[in-house]
Amino acid sequence: MAHLRFRALEQLSNRPKVHVEFPSAKASDFFGENTFGLSQMKSTLSSDVFKQVSQSIKNGSKIDTVTADAVAVAVKSWALAKGATHFTHWFQPLTGGTAEKHDAFFDGLAGIEKFKGGELVQQEPDASSFPNGGIRSTFEARGYTAWDPSSPMFLYGKTLCIPTIFVSYTGELLDTKAPLLKALLAVDKAAVQVCQLFDKDIQKVNASLGIEQEYFVVDEALFMARPDLVMGGRTVFGHSPARGQQLEDHYFGSIPARVYDFMKDFEIEAWRAGIPLRTRHNEVAPSQFEVAPLFEEVNVANDHNQLLMDLMGRVAEKHQLRVLFHEKPFAGVNGSGKHNNWSLITDTGVNLFAPSSSARDNLMFLTFFVTTVRAIHEHADLLRASIATAGNDYRLGANEAPPAIMSTFLGSQMSAVLDELEKNGNIKIEKGDNMYMKLGIDRIPEIILDNTDRNRTSPFAFTGNKFEFRAVGSSDNCATPMTALNLIVAEQLTQFYEAVEKEIEKGTEKRLAIVNILRKYIKESKAIRFEGDGYSEGWVKEAAKRGLSNKKNAVDAIDAYLTPKSIKIFEKHNVLSHKELEARQEIKLESYIKRVQIEARVMGDLAINHIIPTAIAYQNKLIINANGLKGLGVDNKAVLKTIKEISGHIETIKTGVDNMVEERKRLNKLTDTHKKAIGYCKNIKEKYFDEIRDSVDKLELLVDDEDWPLVKYRELLFLR
Ligand code: ADP
Ligand code: MG
Repeated sequence: MAHLRFRALEQLSNRPKVHVEFPSAKASDFFGENTFGLSQMKSTLSSDVFKQVSQSIKNGSKIDTVTADAVAVAVKSWALAKGATHFTHWFQPLTGGTAEKHDAFFDGLAGIEKFKGGELVQQEPDASSFPNGGIRSTFEARGYTAWDPSSPMFLYGKTLCIPTIFVSYTGELLDTKAPLLKALLAVDKAAVQVCQLFDKDIQKVNASLGIEQEYFVVDEALFMARPDLVMGGRTVFGHSPARGQQLEDHYFGSIPARVYDFMKDFEIEAWRAGIPLRTRHNEVAPSQFEVAPLFEEVNVANDHNQLLMDLMGRVAEKHQLRVLFHEKPFAGVNGSGKHNNWSLITDTGVNLFAPSSSARDNLMFLTFFVTTVRAIHEHADLLRASIATAGNDYRLGANEAPPAIMSTFLGSQMSAVLDELEKNGNIKIEKGDNMYMKLGIDRIPEIILDNTDRNRTSPFAFTGNKFEFRAVGSSDNCATPMTALNLIVAEQLTQFYEAVEKEIEKGTEKRLAIVNILRKYIKESKAIRFEGDGYSEGWVKEAAKRGLSNKKNAVDAIDAYLTPKSIKIFEKHNVLSHKELEARQEIKLESYIKRVQIEARVMGDLAINHIIPTAIAYQNKLIINANGLKGLGVDNKAVLKTIKEISGHIETIKTGVDNMVEERKRLNKLTDTHKKAIGYCKNIKEKYFDEIRDSVDKLELLVDDEDWPLVKYRELLFLR
């Protein structure tokens, strides 16, 4: 193993430079050349067919066979002209990640390239190997994928990829995209209803999403020399380097040359695929970076993020690099997240979270703002559940960004506006009064963009014209948190609308009715607002006092999917049925168990087969030395001390691993998935991981560097 480490380090010093140039100085020359979306359809389809397709996209309605056939013909000739040989339905099963099954355009029997509307619209991948939480085995063995025309098709290598949803034959949803589409429909419907209280012209509301993706980059050879990275995406051992992120010099620092070429390379590919990447920079931790696109409609933005992750992985290999999307690949340095910047935008072009210069629009803005805050207050547990994964547990609830307690940061300006609105609750408004002025609504500054007024410790922060959900894990599929967020906002908007209607029926003037309900909401949702340091001990205590929950582990958090409150809103808005929720809960728990299980196994293997033998060999050298010194009559106390320390750590590691294995055997016999998952969390991870790691990391400091088998943090993290 030690040889492996040094061979890897040697390779690292001889890496040839992969030089990357943009194909053209103007990205618009090649942006989107590999996608077949609305604009390509417009130029290749007859105007009738195009109208059909764009209508279906707008209303989420079904596409008829004639239209589908016409689109298939157009996309086939487009793809063939670009050298495509295969096509695939591209979907997002509940394993996370994406799945595809390629079919050739070439029909051997007919001897020609064929592609029909039917193949565009529906396929039957062999579904039995995807997780279904018990749905398929009990109901129906087969599943099918169905075209999502709202997300552009794209060419990936020589394959035409068709974004699809994945459903069982009995109609249960088996993926992450289908419920997202339903939640987006729900929020559209609820938001339009509310918008029309202010502006009858608004017919559609789109949710937008801009995803900031954080990731680490390591050299391929070093990656390969770390079985823990290879197996689980995360280092289970490794002492902090002498220099970590304490100098705070990495953030926005200059990008290492190799990484810069890698970035350019994947940006080119992403642009070709129509992903509007815009921002790149170093992140807080050494070897950590971020990429962010321009925001798009939620479903498209999420497909693009899924594609981007895949693409980054493939491009990295060309550069002999590996990208790590794990939430916490290295202990002691910052983890990675995926900030979800979210807003609602009308078909008239109004961002409903942007304050305006008009007082009327500001009341609409306040309505959406306050209902969103209340939605978070009412359904914080569901939001927490939507980001619960084994990987994210290393960030949330550990002492780093952001905490597991859900809260909102509104900034001083918006906090003041809400406080004033609440305080002025008793002001009597007379006929002819300028209500907006009396309530202080006319004074909302049009642009709330005080950059000092940013709170990086809040999981859900208002950032001037959008909310930023910062607690999503870096490896996650944002469809899940976005389903939860848009669903709870849809529910809250519906409640708001109904409450206003009732007030109006009682004879209250419309604007006043709106203000009254908002005041009530502001009062009721105060507990969720927090402007202070979300990482502090003080907040943990304060949050407990306020009755906010603090679910530190994913297993406890996931339970929120199956509370009567959650089931009710999922069913009411036709997003997921009780049965589907149960299936998802089961899959999430199973995935949690598997992750912890893999880490525990890797840990055991590395500890017993690599670390302990290394420690013993080194200890033997010391024993010879100690005896030699003794024979010479020289003091050997220092050496003896080291020998004893090493023995102590070996003892801790060996006992820890043995007990952990026994406990795993016991847990694996449990049939109740929930009990098993809790067991893996409490009795495996929390009980043994830190203890074993601590001793291994101490040994790393004691054993001769020449003998140490695992690539060290200082080698992994300081790529140049
Ligand atoms: P930061 O949070 O680092 O200051 P930016 O202001 O650049 O970042 O925005 C981060 C992301 O938010 C980008 O993807 C951007 O396109 C997106 N974004 C900006 N405005 C909106 C909006 N109205 N809705 C959704 N996302 C938005
Ligand atoms: Mg941000």
